[in-house]
Amino acid sequence: MEDPHPPSPSDPPHPKLRARAVTRTFGRAAGAVHALGPIDLDIAPGEFTCVVGPSGCGKSTLLRIAAGLLRPSSGELGIRTAARRPVAMIFQDYGIYDWKTVQANVRFGLDIQRVPRKEANARAKDWLTRMGLAEFAGAYPTALSGGMRQRVAIARALAVEPEILLMDEPFAALDAQLRTILQDELLTLTQTTRTTTLFITHSLEEAIVLGDRVLVMSARPGRFIAERRPPFPRPRSGQVRAAPEFTALKSELWELLRAEVGTEAAA
Ligand code: ADP
Ligand code: MG
Repeated sequence: MEDPHPPSPSDPPHPKLRARAVTRTFGRAAGAVHALGPIDLDIAPGEFTCVVGPSGCGKSTLLRIAAGLLRPSSGELGIRTAARRPVAMIFQDYGIYDWKTVQANVRFGLDIQRVPRKEANARAKDWLTRMGLAEFAGAYPTALSGGMRQRVAIARALAVEPEILLMDEPFAALDAQLRTILQDELLTLTQTTRTTTLFITHSLEEAIVLGDRVLVMSARPGRFIAERRPPFPRPRSGQVRAAPEFTALKSELWELLRAEVGTEAAA
């Protein structure tokens, strides 16, 4: 039988990530903590989705489920990868290895994928150059500043050319200036590579600068309570921070969030 609804060019593409009624509870019985959900989420190919929410609302739990590091208690989360391209993660504490050189850290994911050493070295070198770290290839991470370490983590994640990039407050430990610089770098990079990204942050500014959309989570158990699309066309730059719409959206998101932070404090 013929498909009565053949795909047309106007159909939205299949999402790269799809969550349906996902929940997560930690522990059992009386001591159980309902950390997350239920949540539904679709992330389209190339889309940059930011999630903001009060502390402890289940953001990291969501990201760990997406990464396959944690199972949902109920519901389903699927990731659709076209080729055998991996999912890459960047965490707040960078997750880089102090006993490996910068070059070996960036090559790490490629080694796991069994990319031939020569090609892996070339790709690692290329990403280090793009992140302004070429001259530190042979150094050990302990010799680097926090911002440089985070660049190593970004280079390592992007070197595997991930289908999906999952980031959990990757810039939270950095000072405001470095944070701004790395936001701008990430903006340029993701607009070049069109990498599908799920980005957790508690910074509204960061979410508005980077995101195609910003999802607001409720206090625990975290559910999505609002979605806003920053009205800035792509390619965009960090200059959107100065736009009146930027300030307006930030206030609006803050109002939504403040209600949830209040809930949490009262609970
Ligand atoms: P967020 O990242 O939004 O700050 P988390 O996802 O880390 O929040 O945590 C959500 C809730 O789940 C918190 O109450 C936290 O204490 C709890 N939680 C997270 N991980 C575990 C775990 N492995 N065991 C027990 N409780 C956990
Ligand atoms: Mg967290």
